Amino acid sequence: MPLSNLAAIDAAHHIHPFSDMKALNAKGTRIITRGEGSHIYDSAGKKYLDGFAGLWCVNVGYGRQEITEAVNRQMNELAYYNAFFGTSTPSATLLAEKIAGHTDGHLNHVFFTNSGSEATDTWLRIARVYWQAKGRPEKTVVIARRNGYHGSTVAGAALGGMKHMHEQAGAGVPGIVHIGQPYWYAEGGELSPEEFGLKAAKELEDKIAEIGADKIAAFVGEPIQGAGGVIIPPETYWPEIDRICKENDILLVADEVICGFGRLGEWFGHQHFGVKPDLAPVAKGLSSGYLPIGAVLIADRVADVLINEVGDFFHGFTYSGHPVSAAAALENLRIIEDEKLVERVRDDIGPYFGKAWKSLEDHDLVGQAENVGLMGGLQMAADKMTRQRFGKADDLGSYVRNVCLDNGLVLRATGDRMLASPPLVITEEEVDFMVKVTRIGLDAAWKVRQDYV
Ligand code: PMP
Repeated sequence: MPLSNLAAIDAAHHIHPFSDMKALNAKGTRIITRGEGSHIYDSAGKKYLDGFAGLWCVNVGYGRQEITEAVNRQMNELAYYNAFFGTSTPSATLLAEKIAGHTDGHLNHVFFTNSGSEATDTWLRIARVYWQAKGRPEKTVVIARRNGYHGSTVAGAALGGMKHMHEQAGAGVPGIVHIGQPYWYAEGGELSPEEFGLKAAKELEDKIAEIGADKIAAFVGEPIQGAGGVIIPPETYWPEIDRICKENDILLVADEVICGFGRLGEWFGHQHFGVKPDLAPVAKGLSSGYLPIGAVLIADRVADVLINEVGDFFHGFTYSGHPVSAAAALENLRIIEDEKLVERVRDDIGPYFGKAWKSLEDHDLVGQAENVGLMGGLQMAADKMTRQRFGKADDLGSYVRNVCLDNGLVLRATGDRMLASPPLVITEEEVDFMVKVTRIGLDAAWKVRQDYV
């Protein structure tokens, strides 16, 4: 089968996630055939620097033979067994231990899933079961944030704060409410980022007062909102959220699906912001995307209730702790440890990327370029002085992204923001290329900006 036929077959049969299929079929799907380090190749042989690590996930880069071999060994030994009926497999058990070992010592228990969305459904049920078992069954409400993303299952879409998803999928799960996001550039007005961080956190306190702490099970947030546009909260935000959750006896859930496993220069994003969640869904970087696997990390105080009070927890997936996915994840974490990739992001390539990315702020179109570790957000502005943004309909980000793609760089766009999240193994030369090509995209957009302002 010649690869050139694949786009036509894809258009005939393949419905893609989060895609306008009519538009995609008209344009033609790009078929990706190979990956090596921080690069991918398409069926026409074109090479791209993957500034987005697949979908925020290929932390150790492509083409790692060690992972292939670990998967192969596990496949040959035992391709599958479940964890339902008093059994486990060596890789699942050892993976739970290894993950716990990278937390601050309080998230010692792990429930395995196959994806971030399943991890979302799982922690939601754990949070509600926890309060039931503690004799507080009325504590069911979960507070999440507008423009947050927690997955695409019914609970994931309901917890996420994406208006378009709510409109399409209906009301979803009852007992979920949303507050604002800590997006200073767009919503901070005259306040300093620090003042705005406190104001955004105060929205949680106000919502709790409105609903009553005795009705609320948990608050959830991504340490840095990913799909929402790499929205980096002001430093004041997370410590204040932590304080409010503690004072009101509400579980704190840090959605670590993107931030986990080194992206922010710590093993987990909440460590960067200095807070200790009660529950932390993870996925993506856990296996660097080599095989699907997710998990919920559970703090001792929650696990204690789950283990000693709940009895049977009626929840789980056929592939919870799948031995082959777990073997891939174990080898992936070994690579992250042995190559000191977390430290590399914190002390070396993260700061290098940050400086290079920030240099784009001298561009006429760029209002702000910020990062933590290897997660970067670039805000385009119609007016830099007043922080006036471009409208949604302008879709300026897509324009820049497409120019970057033509020039061999994959970035993601959300409205008027550019999102970067390269593999943790990216080199300095590759960072330079990333920034150079992003500038080419911005220059091209600047030329046509008359259409936008
Ligand atoms: N939470 C966050 C923060 C995410 O970014 C994502 C996926 N982008 C999810 C949950 C859902 O993960 P998955 O796509 O693996 O279901």
